[in-house]
Amino acid sequence: MRITSIQTLLVATQPTRPLRIALPGLTHNPALLVRVNTSAGSVGFGEACPFEPVTGNNLQQTRQFIQAMSTQLAGEDPLCIERIHRAMDACDPGNAAAKAAIDIALYDIMGKHAKLPLYKLLGGNENSTKSDMTIGLDEPGCMSQKARQYVGEGFSILKIKVGLNPTDDLEAIRQIRAAVGPKVSLRLDANQGWSVEQAIATMRAMEAFAVDEIEQPVANGDLVGLKAVRTHIKQALMLDESVCTPQDAARALAAGAGDIINIKLMKCGGLYRALQINAVAEAAGVPCMVGCMSETRVSIAAGAALAVALGNICYTDLDSHRAIAQIPGIKGGFEQHGETITLLEKPGLGLDIDLDFDKETV
Ligand SMILES: [Mg+2]
Repeated sequence: MRITSIQTLLVATQPTRPLRIALPGLTHNPALLVRVNTSAGSVGFGEACPFEPVTGNNLQQTRQFIQAMSTQLAGEDPLCIERIHRAMDACDPGNAAAKAAIDIALYDIMGKHAKLPLYKLLGGNENSTKSDMTIGLDEPGCMSQKARQYVGEGFSILKIKVGLNPTDDLEAIRQIRAAVGPKVSLRLDANQGWSVEQAIATMRAMEAFAVDEIEQPVANGDLVGLKAVRTHIKQALMLDESVCTPQDAARALAAGAGDIINIKLMKCGGLYRALQINAVAEAAGVPCMVGCMSETRVSIAAGAALAVALGNICYTDLDSHRAIAQIPGIKGGFEQHGETITLLEKPGLGLDIDLDFDKETV
């Protein structure tokens, strides 16, 4: 079996719930889907969702890289994923989201070839995971109203965006805790928005609201500052923007900068690198979360397979597919009831894609 071509398709998406975070530059984009075609007739689907402030490339650059790989990787065995990653890295050390799309499609092909769902291909046993639900920055009253709504929809873990202004952040979390009661887990994400001093003072004040974790409180490159925050607060510190690659994970954990790593397929270049990050973290005694960018159910299905397959991945933040309207032509992968995502017992990603890759819809 050989790769014959790699096609891209931009598909319009309709946001149902715009997300505001402490980092600028989060704009709504069409979904960039990928289909890897093979000489055996089987195809694999993937998705790239770059977010330039974090992944370093925009949609246009991502699409161009994937299209260049159609020629570069033609003739390669799609099962030789190590070799393909090295070939992609030789062309460009960055472009992680583009690599993630191709990587996900290759694992889809592998699963179909092995007649195994992706989570089993990755060595997993259980087929379901509980995801949190994210609440973006807003007026505290609007945030607490959403919190109550999501708890009503069956979510027991809420991820709340903070990081613009500690006073507003504290008021939002106070109102959310009052709205949802004591049993709901609250995890915060400051997206690098605080200084070290603000982070320590704010998280100490947050002790009154029983918050479990704080994600990326300060600048991603400030490993010394992250360690200082971590040693002065009671909550667990999760690293997101600080860790894109396996090398980042090794550096950050050697610096004592975090208690948990948030793995995102779009930051690291796909499942192959995600497995390496998880291995680095597990060796250091650090659990991981699988998170997401503004992805559709195509790459969310891949992230969910990773989350359920690996015992060291103890947290799941896969909710972006719920912030866009369902896309006609993209079905399957998993079912979701409340907070529980259950993967389908179908080969590969288990997706049912009915889209014309020979014709752009955007
Ligand atoms: Mg984050």
